[in-house]
Formats: sequence, C-alpha cells, structure tokens
Amino acid sequence: MAGIALVTGAGQGIGRAVAVAFAAEGTRVAAVDRDAKGIKRLAAEHEGICAYVADVSRVAQVEAVVAAVEAQLGPIGILANVAGILRTGPVLSFSDQDWADTFAVNAGGVFHLSRAVGARMANRRSGVIVTVSSNAAGIPRAGMAAYAASKAAATMFTKSLGLELAPYGIRCNVVAPGSTDTPMQRALWSEDGPAAVIAGDPAGYRTGIPLGRLAEPEDIADAVLFLASDRARHITMHDLYVDGGATLRG
Ligand code: NAP
Repeated sequence: MAGIALVTGAGQGIGRAVAVAFAAEGTRVAAVDRDAKGIKRLAAEHEGICAYVADVSRVAQVEAVVAAVEAQLGPIGILANVAGILRTGPVLSFSDQDWADTFAVNAGGVFHLSRAVGARMANRRSGVIVTVSSNAAGIPRAGMAAYAASKAAATMFTKSLGLELAPYGIRCNVVAPGSTDTPMQRALWSEDGPAAVIAGDPAGYRTGIPLGRLAEPEDIADAVLFLASDRARHITMHDLYVDGGATLRG
C-alpha cells in the first residue's frame, strides 16, 4: 500500500497486530503509543516498523509526532486510529476523571490524529483513515456507558470526516470489534477465562458470541487492512462489525 501507515496504540493488542500486518505486506509503519516499551520491542522485532512515543489525548504531542513521522519516514498514506482505554463502572458512581479520560483518548485522540493527518492527506488529495471503535458503540451495555458513548462519538466523527474528505478522494471507515483477546479484554475476565463472555448473560442482556469464539487481534487487523486497501476503494463512511455476531447485526 502507498505511503506510510501511522498506527496508534501499537504497543500491544489490536494496534500491534495492525502494525505487524501492514509491515508484513511491505508498508512502512510508524507505531505510536504512549508507552515506549511495547513499540520499541515491536520495532526491534519487525523490519519496517519505527517507534514513536505520543499520548493521543495530548494535542501538542500529536502535532509533533505527525510532523516527525512525515519528516523522517515520508507522507502518511494510512492512518489507523486504534489507541483506546476502557474504564468500567455504573454511571451513578462513575467519576468525573474517568469520564474525562475516556473521552480524551477514545474520542479526542481520534480527532487529534485525524485532523493533523487529514489536513496533510487533503493537501495531497490522497489517503485513507480507519478508526477502530467498538461494537459497544451500537448497543447499550451496563457498566460501560462512558466507553460506549466515547466510541459512538469516535464512530460518528469518523463517518462525518469521511463526508468532508470525500471530495479529496480520502476514504474514512470504522471497524467495530467485539470481544477480542487482548490485555484490555483479559482484564474483564473472571477466573473462568473467556467462557462467560462467549456464553453471554441473559440477566445482563448480553447475547454472547454466536460464532462461539473471541476474535484474535489478527481478525480485527484483517478488517483494517481490507478497508485501507484499494480493494475497498469505493467504500467510505462504513462501519464494519467484526464481533462474531455478538450484536446480532448479521
Ligand atoms: P489494549 O490491549 O489496552 O491496547 C491498547 C494500546 O493503546 C495500549 O498499548 C495502550 O497503552 C495504548 N494507549 C492507550 N491510551 C493511549 C493514549 N492516550 N495514547 C497512546 N496510546 C494509548 O487494547 P486493545 O484491546 O488492543 O484495544 C485496541 C482498540 O480496540 C481500543 O480502541 C479498544 O477500545 C478497541 N476495542 C477492543 C476490544 C477488545 O475486546 N479487546 C473490543 C472492542 C473495541 P497503555 O498500555 O499505556 O494504556
């Protein structure tokens, strides 16, 4: 694929799988994360991946890292917004700080990156943006109101951006994963592991996963790479659910 791929949240989980998948097909990758450890290891293990430390919720850090990537590696042709955080808890006792942090990363981070990279793409009239949101953006989940709301914001922001950037030939799409085996997901498990997630919980209005398995990070990366590729050249403002049917969307 043309140009550099900038992938946020590349230190572990889905972001790491996305970075590895781009590198495997010969695309140079700027791997961005707020934690240097994971991306430095990633860069050491994979040719064509360079590590850049930045917190996507900090606009100055985002502006600086995007400028550095373009100066050092070249034009960013693909932006994959993957960085995200999950703070859970009932609304009635949810803290102001958890609410602010959730929106600063999950919605603010997508805005900061998309604005900085999108402006450069618009000048070049070329590029593609993929935001990894969540299936929680499309279905209510108890204990996840802030996360779900922040992901709904990221989803609709990305679709609206797709409309604004369409005249420049820039496509903007969303991938909405369901439960995916990453550190974020494992933090939610009881001692039974993923069984309860797969089985669902009628008392909690959760249907479970019809395909009977969690996603691997590579399953989500495949969807990101497809939407970033020319095979998806006529697809924009799309929201691709990769959740094993968990939200019964077919
Ligand atoms: P993860 O295992 O927690 O990895 C997320 C990575 O993003 C971490 O390296 C994290 O660094 C980094 N990150 C967090 N905040 C950042 C910030 N402000 N700036 C830069 N990097 C930051 O999560 P994951 O499961 O791979 O999730 C990736 C994306 O998929 C997220 O947007 C998540 O909401 C979404 N998603 C995941 C699932 C799932 O079941 N796993 C389901 C639906 C959607 P730290 O370790 O320092 O926080």
